[in-house]
Amino acid sequence: MKVTFLGTGTSHGVPVIGCSCPVCTSTDPHDNRMRSSILIEKGDSAVVIDTGCEFRMQALRAGIKHLDAVLYTHAHADHLMGLDDLRVFSKNERFPVYGFTSTLDAVRKIFPYAFRELPYKGAPRLEAVTVEDGEIFTAGTIEFQAIPLMHGLMRIAGYRFGRTAYLTDVSDILWNENRERLEGVRTLIIGALRDRPHWSHFTFSEAVDAARTIGAEKVYFTHINHETGYRDIQERFAPYAESAYDGLELEVEDE
Ligand SMILES: [Zn+2]
Ligand SMILES: [Zn+2]
Ligand SMILES: [Zn+2]
Repeated sequence: MKVTFLGTGTSHGVPVIGCSCPVCTSTDPHDNRMRSSILIEKGDSAVVIDTGCEFRMQALRAGIKHLDAVLYTHAHADHLMGLDDLRVFSKNERFPVYGFTSTLDAVRKIFPYAFRELPYKGAPRLEAVTVEDGEIFTAGTIEFQAIPLMHGLMRIAGYRFGRTAYLTDVSDILWNENRERLEGVRTLIIGALRDRPHWSHFTFSEAVDAARTIGAEKVYFTHINHETGYRDIQERFAPYAESAYDGLELEVEDE
């Protein structure tokens, strides 16, 4: 199974519009981060988690020709606003989008036209598929498990596939519920915003602590903001934890 990082930045992306800080003006391409999203491929199956504002550019950059489904972690703009571009995948049949009820309710409110019985010609035709806490489901031929997480006061979804977990925008892992669900995870992709504490995101060190509690062998930070440059993160946290970057590809275990 292959994971491709389509984006690794926080909600503003990096560089931030109008910002002239050292990271935003860095010439290192690793410091260019679109909104966080990953592509997971196994055989002929391809699934994307989240479609932020830059989904179209990310899909073109990664050469995506076919998608079986999109899984949504939550309905914040930086994870959702590229949804309209899914229309290329729904020409022949409704395209499934997965998420918790609360997420899909918000998605339907923001993009009502994508879920109508008789859609406007040319509009995306999507099917909302609800998943429950801890539910194991298959998208394409890839098996996922929904992992509930707290993101500030919001209950959102992370996803496990094989021995990899993608937990972004997390401020609380909900250990009582998830300890067993995360058992055996080797590769952890986890949101880590910055060094300073934040009410709805882990810092780098909180993310590392969570990874050690899970027992992960390798950690990739994502959803990173402009306060910390790629080189800086690498020098401080590698080899156990590394900064993911846009375009990074990982080969991960199928099960
Ligand atoms: Zn976010
Ligand atoms: Zn900046
Ligand atoms: Zn968020």
